[in-house]
Amino acid sequence: MSLGAERRMEARLKKLEDMIREPRCAINLESLLDSLNALVLDLDYPSLRKNKNIETFLNRYEAVIRQTRDLQMKSEDFDRVKVIGRGAFGEVQLVRHKASQKVYAMKVLSKFEMIKRSDSAFFWEERDIMAFANSPWVVQLCCAFQDEHYLYMVMEYMPGGDLVNLTSTYDVPEKWAKFYTAEVVMALDAIHSMGFIHRDVKPDNMLLDRLGHLKLADFGTCMKMNSAGMVHCDTAVGTPDYISPEVLKSQGGDGYYGRECDWWSVGVFIFEMLVGDTPFYADSLVGTYSKIMDHKNSLNFPDDVEISKDAKNIICAFLTDR
Ligand code: ATP
Repeated sequence: MSLGAERRMEARLKKLEDMIREPRCAINLESLLDSLNALVLDLDYPSLRKNKNIETFLNRYEAVIRQTRDLQMKSEDFDRVKVIGRGAFGEVQLVRHKASQKVYAMKVLSKFEMIKRSDSAFFWEERDIMAFANSPWVVQLCCAFQDEHYLYMVMEYMPGGDLVNLTSTYDVPEKWAKFYTAEVVMALDAIHSMGFIHRDVKPDNMLLDRLGHLKLADFGTCMKMNSAGMVHCDTAVGTPDYISPEVLKSQGGDGYYGRECDWWSVGVFIFEMLVGDTPFYADSLVGTYSKIMDHKNSLNFPDDVEISKDAKNIICAFLTDR
């Protein structure tokens, strides 16, 4: 082989190696192993094994795949301490890594549930944001893996709990509200700067670290903005009380909106911290939705709660048409 041909071959091999080592590449080592693992699992049925080629394939790969399954991270590497939260597709557990004795929060998502509602399960976005954000405002993903039934995301544990817990334990003074609002604005700006809209900003998704600082969690509703800073989505995502009019209107129709839907939810959050209830609360879902659509008339501040003019101004500035 000529020197030139040898160099070209080396460069090709190096490129392949780089792709396999690059965590953001769709065919990195873990993805390749997961794919081969899935193929072996899916082919391992007596009726399929009757096919000579499948049987030969399985005989070649079964043993080595069993070996890699043992080497890869798995749920048995962790002891479950307790369940700390439940969501639409699974639960969040406090776990201890057996080898290092370190504690983590582990989100366990049911593949069955996610496939059933695949239009609202954005697990790749969630994994990528937590894995690559490298931001003090985003709960960090330490590792992720899967088995036949579940996806697992192992995150840093946030011992301060969520903002729901904080607001239900204390009467939040304006000074505190200012602090958490400032931090949530910084956190959302970090998500927007990465090109995503969160779409489910609410106190349940704001967690406190051991020093009392806020980080955003739960990126399962995040959507990548297009070059105009907008997203197309025809299903209403989010949580009724915090949902903005434009996201609500997108239900069943041609939804097209931008990052301002997250700022609407910040307005609801500030109101809730200071008043104790969300601004568009109603006994029924329909009631809440019609109040949101009629927000110009339905947004009222109760007389029995003292709120500064500045606080009212910022709430009204957020709770406005897009
Ligand atoms: P949803 O259906 O609301 O989208 P989900 O399945 O996506 O829920 P999360 O909202 O991410 O789950 O988490 C549920 C709850 O678990 C949170 O409100 C919080 O109390 C707790 N939790 C989540 N992540 C952590 C963490 N890293 N540290 C501590 N607690 C956490």
